[in-house]
Amino acid sequence: MSIKIEKLKHVYMPKSPFEKVALNNVNLEINEGEFVALIGHTGSGKSTLIQHMNGLLKPTSGKIIVDGEDITKSNIKLTDIRKKVGLVFQYPEYQLFEETIEKDIEYGPRNLGLDQEEITRRVKKSMKMVGLDYDEYRNKSPFDLSGGQKRRVAIAGVIAMEPKILILDEPTAGLDPKGRDDILEQIKVLHQEYKMTIILVSHSMEDVGKLAEKIIVMNRGEVALEGEPAKVFREVDKLEEMGLAVPQITYLMRALKEKGFNVSDEIYTITQGKEELLRILKEIKK
Ligand code: ADP
Repeated sequence: MSIKIEKLKHVYMPKSPFEKVALNNVNLEINEGEFVALIGHTGSGKSTLIQHMNGLLKPTSGKIIVDGEDITKSNIKLTDIRKKVGLVFQYPEYQLFEETIEKDIEYGPRNLGLDQEEITRRVKKSMKMVGLDYDEYRNKSPFDLSGGQKRRVAIAGVIAMEPKILILDEPTAGLDPKGRDDILEQIKVLHQEYKMTIILVSHSMEDVGKLAEKIIVMNRGEVALEGEPAKVFREVDKLEEMGLAVPQITYLMRALKEKGFNVSDEIYTITQGKEELLRILKEIKK
């Protein structure tokens, strides 16, 4: 189950005075089981790109191949794509509407025409996957929950479709630090324990450095950089030109290196930074 994108172009409102080329010649491949981060300045084309991955938007030209099948073909059903690729929008909790959590999560599977036993199995499983106890929460109103918990319910509703690939557009936006950490931890669990392929749109270089195996950097509708975090974060100048940055800890290590300290500048998480600083402290003490 992979996503392959070839020469994707998307033009909004073509042939009008408002014509906007949002994506141009995008080529990329996301492999099964990967944790990919998608970063880029506002307006760089991230939302447009992810909406092509589950068939919400059709390309102006180019191919999107999901699980070996070109989803831009006219005979492909949207529900079939959604069963493979789940998309969690920004502020997904705004789309909660049912009176109980269980009913809300059931909505997608019910529309697939599944029987009640299967629907309940999926609700239980997806609640477990996002860390919500079924018996405790099923009859509660989603509106009585905290911001982070509401978001979990919304994510469970997408997971209940049992997609192999989960795309999350800024899942931590607007949450307090505890809510942010909890959601990120949960996404890590979905990847590590449940083996889901994750595509995370994020503005936080810290989160991306901590979680992603691969980073795709979008700039003006094109893929500007792509690769492992170490490779992408090495391109500090290019990233800054695009209005982006590297994690704060990477800047700190670079500054220390410039001052003559024997530290690696390929550090992009606090944990790595701590280990590196302790290592040079030991060296200095000797
Ligand atoms: P990002 O998610 O990186 O902020 P978007 O994909 O939302 O970027 O936007 C890419 C470009 O397409 C921007 O210039 C944006 O203004 C434009 N755009 C996005 N959605 C629409 C739309 N529905 N109609 C017209 N232009 C749009």
